[in-house]
Amino acid sequence: MSAATTRSRTPDRLCAEAVDLARAAAEEAAAPGVVGEHVGLVSEGDRVVTHFFECKELGYRGWRWAATVARASRAKLVTLDEVVLLPGQDALLAPEWVPWSERLRPGDMGPGDLLPTDAEDLRLEPGYSGDDEPLPTSAVSHEMAELVEAEDAEVTSGAPAALPVTPSRGTIAAIAEELGLRRARVLSRYGLHVAADRWDDAFGAQTPMAQAAPAACVTCGFLVPLGGSLGQAFGLCANEFSPADGRVVSLSYGCGGHSEAAVMPKPPQPAAPVVDETRLDPFPLRPAADSGSVPEAGDEETAELGHS
Ligand code: SF4
Repeated sequence: MSAATTRSRTPDRLCAEAVDLARAAAEEAAAPGVVGEHVGLVSEGDRVVTHFFECKELGYRGWRWAATVARASRAKLVTLDEVVLLPGQDALLAPEWVPWSERLRPGDMGPGDLLPTDAEDLRLEPGYSGDDEPLPTSAVSHEMAELVEAEDAEVTSGAPAALPVTPSRGTIAAIAEELGLRRARVLSRYGLHVAADRWDDAFGAQTPMAQAAPAACVTCGFLVPLGGSLGQAFGLCANEFSPADGRVVSLSYGCGGHSEAAVMPKPPQPAAPVVDETRLDPFPLRPAADSGSVPEAGDEETAELGHS
């Protein structure tokens, strides 16, 4: 038997010696030829011992066949309790299982995917939906009823000045409709904070890009301001050459595409031509025949080109 691994208590002698019984049980449970050397035993309790055998099955590196044997008090017969395959300390294990709801990562969602949110999603809180109030233009709205009444009254009697005006635009429902607030839920304070943290991690001042940037986004012409409270710390980058193009960036983020960081110099303008009108410059019509050199002014075939 190989060196035994024991717990605090001393293993029962008869159970510890029942290696053959344990091996036979392991070989019966395992595929043929995959039960290897006896690698140890542990005392599980009084007269209960587990024997371990190396597992030679491919894909189960570090696993061990464990056969537990026991005997009754004052009995000499050792019997089998159970056989299982257990991972050892260096066993190759599958990654810990993660629930699907925690498995999703930013960027995982593709076209057509639906991502349901919990009713108790901490990132959201109740918003003003206006479900309990009819739209101002609805036939059953309070304003509409008043208007209908007014029109009836106008036909029958009464001065126009006394009539009600068109449906008020100052009602909560009308304002919510205009601002697009008629949603069942809106972002909570917690939702705002986690979003801000996430954006700051990705495009914030601590990123290597921002650390090496010539200037911050807050002074960049490519920054599109955001509305709401998040606009105090974030904006949208609209520089197609920036790594943050189309992303929400911290105002303290920055990149080499900053609008004012490297302004291209204008191409140099050539100087205006200078016209010398005070003297004539003679030019030969053709070079001298012998040397190809330019004849001196006054040679026979020299002609004046005139001046401009
Ligand atoms: S171009 Fe660079 S500096 Fe300008 S807003 Fe975009 S990320 Fe910020």
